Amino acid sequence: MTMLNVGRPTRPEAVEMDTHTSLNGGRGLLQDEGLLFEVGRPDRTGVDLEPAELDASDLGDLVRTAPIGLAGLSEPEAVRHYVRLSQKNHAIDLALYPLGSCTMKHNPRLNEKMARLAGFADLHPLQPQSTVQGALALMDRLAHWLKTLTGMPAVALSPKAGAHGELCGLLAIRAAHESRGDAARRRVLTPTSAHGTNPATAAFVGYQVTEIGQTEDGRVDLADLAAKLGPDVAAIMVTNPNTCGLFERDIVEIARLTHEAGAYFYCDGANFNAIVGRVRPGDLGVDAMHINLHKTFSTPHGGGGPGAGPVVLSEALARFAPAPWIVHGPEGLRLEEEARGEAADAFGRMSAFHGQMGMFVRAYAYMLSHGADGLRQVAEDAVLNANYVKARLQGAMTPAFPVGPCMHEALFDDTWLEGTGITTLDFAKAMIDEGFHPMTMYFPLVVHGAMLIEPTETESRAELDRFCEALLALAQAAKAGDVDRFKGAPFLAPLRRLDETLAARKPRLAWHPEPTAVAPAPQVIE
Ligand SMILES: *Cc1c(COP(=O)(O)O)cnc(C)c1O
Repeated sequence: MTMLNVGRPTRPEAVEMDTHTSLNGGRGLLQDEGLLFEVGRPDRTGVDLEPAELDASDLGDLVRTAPIGLAGLSEPEAVRHYVRLSQKNHAIDLALYPLGSCTMKHNPRLNEKMARLAGFADLHPLQPQSTVQGALALMDRLAHWLKTLTGMPAVALSPKAGAHGELCGLLAIRAAHESRGDAARRRVLTPTSAHGTNPATAAFVGYQVTEIGQTEDGRVDLADLAAKLGPDVAAIMVTNPNTCGLFERDIVEIARLTHEAGAYFYCDGANFNAIVGRVRPGDLGVDAMHINLHKTFSTPHGGGGPGAGPVVLSEALARFAPAPWIVHGPEGLRLEEEARGEAADAFGRMSAFHGQMGMFVRAYAYMLSHGADGLRQVAEDAVLNANYVKARLQGAMTPAFPVGPCMHEALFDDTWLEGTGITTLDFAKAMIDEGFHPMTMYFPLVVHGAMLIEPTETESRAELDRFCEALLALAQAAKAGDVDRFKGAPFLAPLRRLDETLAARKPRLAWHPEPTAVAPAPQVIE
């Protein structure tokens, strides 16, 4: 295979496992497709517009003098380009997407339809508030249900992802300590199994991060936590259920110890899907928790966005919540934008406006269409499905924590691959050839060669069986010594195995016709 110096193969390679190849590089219905700049031409356009009569004087010397050089395509060419690209990708609409910790569930079309209603989709954030009363009412109802489901008195809707929510929570915690003049608290504790965003957020806010150890059975080590808590600890960040797919049984004690030490309890709520409608984090002593609407409440995960990560806050932190928030006034609903009056302690704001309106609409539609009983069933079915997967696979693969049931995700280690010469990465790549997106690999870090499978509640028994049978067949092939099937995988994907380290270390984000000659040297981020 020829490989550019940036980790991207120049074109798909012939299928090695199947000697029959097409003459044009395509694969049946899977069309070979170049980049936009390769298939389009700057001298072509898909629309026929009169030259615009622009008064360019406002732009001074910023007026463009050379042609813009964008690839021109006709409408059918543009549509086909993107459809062909979309067929090279996995999607939740194609098959089970077992990415653990990410909660990749079906996005109900009803939510999409509601989000596209002109009264929501066509609003502008700077419109007079009297003209957006319906949108504000929806945000108010969503806030109400998020508070009700978590048993918490306040919620900040504006954070735009889980990690952004973590930042919001820690900023509220920092503001609370500062308001008491307590400047000695410089550390945040996170368990060894924590999602990478937890220590990253704590460091971003300026805290030092200290790890809390884990017990044999995959939970927070209480003795180690007690030993590390002290007058210099600002907060702990604990995920529940944790990233090993296990409920932290001692969570009430964890909260008690934390509060006794004068620190706050940040709960990473990314796994709320496993307990929604069954457990209210507020009852467990949590002070702040983000909720990934794009996980639990079925809004789509975009390519890094748009997500939404509202943060619920306890009584102790509520008054530090960031602006804006909704106030009920004599003239209806209004967004309070200023830190004044009751809101005088707000720590600031998380984004320019109020958050991701489209995600609010989708999440609220999801809540209403499920109802209280339906949301509880979401958690129950998610846990049931994960345990079904664990039960079907545990004869062939080794569960990381074999004793007892799991919550919403089943975690395996690579003990069962010992002696085969096949790694977790090889196994995951072979899953692509079977038509499934790989599970989360090598996370959590505390489990050797981790394979974290989260089926979610939206998979039927038939699809779970299809998935499990594919994995069982692969496991059998691995144990039978069919090493080539794994080492060379994926064979059937549009692109073969990439140099992921190089691609991550030296990403080339712009297209240039002659990459080696023209592209600026990529910057290595250490
Ligand atoms: C997904 C996830 C996050 C981060 O959420 P984003 O919305 O991706 O920023 C944090 N913690 C855990 C456990 C997660 O699964």
